[in-house]
Amino acid sequence: MKPAIIALDIGATKTVIGRVVEDRVQAERHLVTSALFRRGGNIAPLVSEIRKLWKLHVKGIAIGFAGVVSDGAVLAAPNFSSDLIPPHFALSRLLTDIFDVSVSVMNDTECFTFGEAVFGAGRHKRCVVGLTLGTGVGGGIVIDGVPYRGTHALAGEFGHLPFPSEKIKCGCGQLGHLENILSGPGLARLYALATGREGTSEEVVKAARRGDVSALEALRAIEEALVHLILTVLLAWDPDVIVVGGGIAKIPRLLVTARRLVRQRVAFPPLRRVPIVPSLLHDHAVILGAAHLASFKKETPRYHRLFSFKRR
Ligand SMILES: [Zn+2]
Repeated sequence: MKPAIIALDIGATKTVIGRVVEDRVQAERHLVTSALFRRGGNIAPLVSEIRKLWKLHVKGIAIGFAGVVSDGAVLAAPNFSSDLIPPHFALSRLLTDIFDVSVSVMNDTECFTFGEAVFGAGRHKRCVVGLTLGTGVGGGIVIDGVPYRGTHALAGEFGHLPFPSEKIKCGCGQLGHLENILSGPGLARLYALATGREGTSEEVVKAARRGDVSALEALRAIEEALVHLILTVLLAWDPDVIVVGGGIAKIPRLLVTARRLVRQRVAFPPLRRVPIVPSLLHDHAVILGAAHLASFKKETPRYHRLFSFKRR
């Protein structure tokens, strides 16, 4: 029997837990993240969900977590309640103590981008940038098959680019950041500001389909934010491909329109040809990426020499 990895995609809203064998997801569970943690970083519900997928021959646990991650700890998770995920949350150590296998905790969009670069829309490309648009904005960079996180493990934190049209306080504590518009909560907030009606981002998308003018305007605002993000990524990384995933990326025509506007506005003709494509692996991108990135990091000393983040 081939060994399995229990891989988790822990987003601020939703979590996917899968049992991964090689490039296949054998079984999976889709859960609400807030139900997996109790106050003060208590992980008892998470542990019981992992046990439901546990069988013989599990060789490790690999987690893509929506936050700033280093050395197996979640240093900051701006989109989570600090009651549930305290700062410097040692998730890897907590799980290792319980399951007695190796546990890797990584940034979720780093895993998404690695998954797409190895198995999905970024296959055979040298420089792949992944963007995930959900509760917040995540970014990942894979160059020549190796994830790049920068000196402080912060390369790809595009959600915190200043975005001039708004002055809402961001989860990071600053004002006017991109992900306060380009996200599910951002879309809902824009609509509520215009109409006084509270609702979810899904409800705003439905209202836009019925021709609701405020909903259409809110969608146009997040479209502009996405164009701003893609133009920034093109100029910063000059990638071979940009792969876009997450719930917001599934809004009908959002990516198509953003792609058209990017091509009209980008400064240099070669950048017009960079493919801007949806995720091929969908809900499996982060768990497949996490399962393979965990062993890649262990087996590749070059990764540690060149790219790993050392806490100072
Ligand atoms: Zn921010």
